[in-house]
Amino acid sequence: MKKILQDLSFEELENLILSLGEKKFRAKQLYAGLTLGKKISQINISAELRQKLLESYEDEPVKIIQTFTSADGTEKYLFSLADGNVIEGVLMKYKYGNTQCVSTQVGCRMGCKFCASTLGGLVRNLTSGEILCQILTVNALCGGNAKTRAVTNVVLMGSGEPLDNYDNTVSFLKNVTAPDGINISARNISLSTCGIVPKIYALADEGIPVNLTISLHQTTDEGRARTMPIAKKYAIAEVLKACEYYFEKTGRRYIFEYSLIDGENCDARHAEELINLLKGRPCHVNLIRLNEVKERELKTITEKQAYRFLGLLEKGGLSATLRRQIGVDIGGACGQLRASFLKRI
Ligand code: SAH
Repeated sequence: MKKILQDLSFEELENLILSLGEKKFRAKQLYAGLTLGKKISQINISAELRQKLLESYEDEPVKIIQTFTSADGTEKYLFSLADGNVIEGVLMKYKYGNTQCVSTQVGCRMGCKFCASTLGGLVRNLTSGEILCQILTVNALCGGNAKTRAVTNVVLMGSGEPLDNYDNTVSFLKNVTAPDGINISARNISLSTCGIVPKIYALADEGIPVNLTISLHQTTDEGRARTMPIAKKYAIAEVLKACEYYFEKTGRRYIFEYSLIDGENCDARHAEELINLLKGRPCHVNLIRLNEVKERELKTITEKQAYRFLGLLEKGGLSATLRRQIGVDIGGACGQLRASFLKRI
């Protein structure tokens, strides 16, 4: 595989351009073109520089190969990478803007029982540029540029565990928030993790105050270990301590994802345990009804039951919401689209 130009920060790109014997301003032109989601071959630079770059760098590292539009307006994309791997992403449209869900790995090795992303294990990490290009291509497709962005918010909730691909994820976060680039504010970015504790501490110290989201899904370590293997390594108490540290360092309230699974985690007892665990913390709970995955046995609950569970949490003093399920008709849950694509080929 050739290298990926979008892996570089502006300074790194400038150094590359100078090392190729080109004038500094070329770096600016190139960076502006890449930010607009253009291929190297489409950017207005000298034929000689273009030729030199294309010898070592991918012209189009992330290509949209299919687009699905849901009845509710949500768009789902299947992207292909230079090595033929495929990943998926979603663009959700809200009143305040458009949120893109990006993948950080091809597949995943975390093994959560309810998640389709992990069905075939981890294939490979994405580079920071491959994560960034998902946004740049969708932004361009939707008619956005660096000033008037079509993608205003980003969630790292596609395939993969971002903190299992820590270095690339952090350099992606630096590049996507860079003022010279697409410049999406850290406040508009959410990173979701199954809870790799040492990396939560490391992220807190990076100085990029993104919203931290933890996939909790259970109230006890034993219960959590049944569906999330990572729980055998890090206890909920350790995860909560890391969240507190994150809050101290960034001032950002943290969020818990809690997918409602029938018979597993949403009885009145669980509500009580969740309240005891989280009450008084600067956090919010996002409930979502499980998106049933064909390959998995787990079942969701009815909307009515979900609202009842939400009511119990609110009564207990927690800040909580029930997320609307969107894009269900187009395989909205993590990894579902890629899984069905792989089955077709
Ligand atoms: N690996 C990261 C981010 C990816 S998943 C993490 O674990 O947080 C984004 C969210 O969707 C996570 O909270 C994940 O647990 C949840 N999720 C995965 N599959 C789901 C499904 N079938 N139904 C509902 N939520 C699901």
